[in-house]
Amino acid sequence: MPNQSKQHHKVLILGSGPAGLTAAIYAARSNLQPALISGPEPGGQLTITTEVENFPGFPEGIQGPEIMKLFRIQAERFGTQFYTGEALIVNLSSRPFQLKTDSVEVTCDTLIVATGASARWIGLDSETRFQNRGVSACATCDGFFFRGHEVAVVGGGDTAMEEALYLANLCKKVYVIHRRDELRASQIMQERAFQHESITFIWNSVVEEVLGNDQQGMTSLKVKNIQTNEIKDYPLTGLFVAIGHVPNTKAFADQLTLDENGYIVVKPGTTYTSVEGVFACGDVQDRVYRQAITAAGTGCMAAIDAERWLAEHTS
Ligand code: NDP
Repeated sequence: MPNQSKQHHKVLILGSGPAGLTAAIYAARSNLQPALISGPEPGGQLTITTEVENFPGFPEGIQGPEIMKLFRIQAERFGTQFYTGEALIVNLSSRPFQLKTDSVEVTCDTLIVATGASARWIGLDSETRFQNRGVSACATCDGFFFRGHEVAVVGGGDTAMEEALYLANLCKKVYVIHRRDELRASQIMQERAFQHESITFIWNSVVEEVLGNDQQGMTSLKVKNIQTNEIKDYPLTGLFVAIGHVPNTKAFADQLTLDENGYIVVKPGTTYTSVEGVFACGDVQDRVYRQAITAAGTGCMAAIDAERWLAEHTS
């Protein structure tokens, strides 16, 4: 029996990005009175991007924070209860599941994990200063604004190659800055990048500083060769940081099956995790597509999976 001093919910959703809020809309419309804990980045990754032009239904585009506000209003309209805070303690070993944030303690019959992933950043102050004004972590989201420009991508993995190839079809020139002289990316992605005439590699190098001003945003990039210590300025208007994403799964480390990169493993074609009654959707279980629309799609799946699971397991 649920502890009566804690709020109990049939469906509890963690995360307020497109996946979590879509799950909330569907669960609320199924009369499951869901609650949603909106975490440390309310609205998720879309709130750190500018214009969203690839979400169907918005032919003129829409600002990232604005579309997330609309998602939330829609979830509220059907009666989702919102909490704010980070789920610090999660106990999935007994039923009902128990969660604790710094301000609330709740229990639930089903849990939908939509905590997303966060882009890994280099960690420079100037990188933060020019975020959305030259610095981005998503070429599919922001690359269009750099058509005909010269830009750089940082990283040597598959994401960096994917970003570079995507940008190479839009931009005049793409520099790939990598800290070693060997890529981590798969062979096929490496070959594609090497063969593209608009992509140039800057090896053994790191970004020292993003330079620019308030009017124009980023105007150049200071790059240091870590073998020779030589510093060179590149007149570029865009920097795409592609040094990996970190799925937000710390609270579930020993409770749900995660893959080698920390993403939640789901049963293929569903949102079922390794624990019965726990479902995962959005970027926390997807390291391949990572789009708002795919996150929303899996959010819908999670709500339907949770509803059916409840129908089968409760009287
Ligand atoms: P990875 O961890 O594979 O690569 C990260 C890259 O960033 C590495 O080259 C790393 O350098 C570099 N890096 C890390 N930290 C820093 C830093 N602080 N400063 C500078 N450079 C840094 O991440 P990805 O996002 O590329 O890929 C994650 C996983 O997703 C991989 O398994 C990948 O294969 C997969 N993936 C698959 C895709 C597909 O199949 N289509 C597409 C995208 C990703 P170093 O090499 O020196 O460690």
